[in-house]
Amino acid sequence: MTLLFIAHDLSMVKYISDRVGVMYLGHLVELTSSASLYSRPLHPYTKALLSAIPIPDPDVEEKRERILLKGELPSPINPPSGCIFHTRCPYAAAVCREKRPVFREVESDHYAACHLHDPAVKHDHFPFAAGAGLT
Ligand code: SF4
Repeated sequence: MTLLFIAHDLSMVKYISDRVGVMYLGHLVELTSSASLYSRPLHPYTKALLSAIPIPDPDVEEKRERILLKGELPSPINPPSGCIFHTRCPYAAAVCREKRPVFREVESDHYAACHLHDPAVKHDHFPFAAGAGLT
């Protein structure tokens, strides 16, 4: 039996789902096992969602860095060109406005739609990525 659980709060999904898909504006941007998603998120939107989960330890909670997304959520009826997340992504480059990233297998059974994880794109457009631990 398969159950599909839809939520906005990733803190509870971890305890319910074996496999997790993250959607933005109606598009799947990341898909993998629950263990892989929570230990090594790949897509910047997933990273922002996970950074918003409170940690039940006041010392850790006080020091953790949250990724706050700027800007308004675009209309899904008239989505942005290129990568649909580029208007809010902290890493967006020119290529993100022009070209839609392919939803591809980045690691074994771990899929994401982001130019940061596309070997054919990242080195030319994200020279900072490797040193910043983004890929
Ligand atoms: S393709 Fe570009 S804008 Fe889209 S999530 Fe990746 S880095 Fe951000």
